[in-house]
Amino acid sequence: MHRIIVTRKELLKFKITKDDQCTLRSNHDCIIHTFTKCAVTTSIYSSALNWFTYTNNVSVNPSSGQILFLLKDAKSNLTTAQERRLNLLLLCAKLYIYACKIALKTPNAAELQRKIETQRTIENVL
Ligand SMILES: [Zn+2]
Repeated sequence: MHRIIVTRKELLKFKITKDDQCTLRSNHDCIIHTFTKCAVTTSIYSSALNWFTYTNNVSVNPSSGQILFLLKDAKSNLTTAQERRLNLLLLCAKLYIYACKIALKTPNAAELQRKIETQRTIENVL
């Protein structure tokens, strides 16, 4: 993801911004912060994983590495379909979080859930 995803850290390095503070919280921004450490981000993942647990009737607790790189959990009891759904959820969450940061907007778990449900409805119709 380095050199593909730009955070405030890179923007400061190229003198495009005056500081490297996260746009969501006052911490130094970087890829790790954006996708695994930021309090706003972890709150979004927590809500998304609660939703996944509720809708799939399974318990999941992916590590930061699993969230960041969609790594397979060897101890997971998920079916292949559930694992694909979880990876798609995490991928959509990361895309949503990054889009919100670029737009200087605070991510909202309910909005993420609506976007995913809309996308699922569209794909079921096509
Ligand atoms: Zn942050």
